[in-house]
Amino acid sequence: MPAPRPLLPPPSDEARRQAALDAYAVVGSVAEQPYDDIVRLAVTLCDVPAAAISLIDHDRQWFKAQIGLDVRETARSEAICDRAIRQPDRMLVVEDLYDHPDLPRPTMRVEGDPLRFYAGVPLLSPDGQPLGVVCVLDNKPRTLTDAQREGLEVLARQTQHLLELRRYAMEQRRLLSEREAFAQRLEDARADLQRRHDLLEHRATHDALTGLLNRSALAQLRDNAEAMRLLQQSPYTLMLLDVDHFKDVNDRHGHLLGDRALRAVADAVNASIREGDIAVRYGGEEFLILLPDTHLAQAAQVAERIRQRIAVAPLPFALTVSMGIAAGEPTRDWSEQVFDRADQALYRAKATGRNRVVVDDTPLHHA
Ligand code: GH3
Ligand code: MG
Ligand code: MG
Repeated sequence: MPAPRPLLPPPSDEARRQAALDAYAVVGSVAEQPYDDIVRLAVTLCDVPAAAISLIDHDRQWFKAQIGLDVRETARSEAICDRAIRQPDRMLVVEDLYDHPDLPRPTMRVEGDPLRFYAGVPLLSPDGQPLGVVCVLDNKPRTLTDAQREGLEVLARQTQHLLELRRYAMEQRRLLSEREAFAQRLEDARADLQRRHDLLEHRATHDALTGLLNRSALAQLRDNAEAMRLLQQSPYTLMLLDVDHFKDVNDRHGHLLGDRALRAVADAVNASIREGDIAVRYGGEEFLILLPDTHLAQAAQVAERIRQRIAVAPLPFALTVSMGIAAGEPTRDWSEQVFDRADQALYRAKATGRNRVVVDDTPLHHA
């Protein structure tokens, strides 16, 4: 019986060695043809029944590829490969295991028989950390020729190349996904900035209470020569709307209901105009509506619809509005005159009893 084998202490830089192995993320990976080819070559070259690429991982050895063995992994304590990596600069050859009671006696079998012969070349990371071994095994004692030893060393170097390729490909994938993540973050930030910008712009040009355009948006429109030119290419109509006795609404029902009434007015306006029309909350309870490409007669119908919608708005009190409308002149510059004429029509609506639409009838060219 062989003497009990002393357990060697782990290599002093075992943590760094394990980290080097982990960097390949190869332990536990699926079988791959190039590694299988290496062990196939090894058995042919050395004329042995078994070969393996063994990686020493924590407390086990795991075979990335193997031929002629009955297991995929074994405990590290019974791995001769673990002895091989303790002298990483040279091949370990054990011609007959029975002559070496100091070495572990593996339980795995080669073609059903106990292991007798072992030769293993350590696999090193570029900075010299031993990762595992390319080894050949037999169930009877034997030797290797110089050419076979040399060939086995070549195969170990090829295996190292395969491992480096694997790590390089992983690194490329990592860099790529990092770049993609960075580009995504950049895009997210840009979109967020755009959203904030849009929100600010919307706030700057819209009335918070009703969501309609505000007075400053109207000023921008009037300063926009191209927009005004388009507006004046065809007959357009300007409407002014003022809520009747709104001060009383506030006094009687409070500001909150007053605000609700203003929103109801905006809803009625929005429901009555078409896309391209421009509705502005012009003052507290005053609204301006521009209808491009609309004749006065059509606009009067729109105004009447607005008035009626407000009259039946879902409010706990009756709400009425007065409106004055005037035709804008094509081919003429935007002028205060259209506004003034609409305003005068509105004044007449108020003066003649409110809750009505008054159409400006000033002859256009003498306005
Ligand atoms: P008229 O029929 O002649 O137009 O009478 P009016 O009471 O509607 O006219 P006036 O201009 O005297 O009153 C307008 C009221 O609108 C006074 C103001 O407190 C109220 N108002 C202006 N802005 C708001 C607002 O944002 N919310 C509320 N609840 N009230 C507002
Ligand atoms: Mg008013
Ligand atoms: Mg009013």
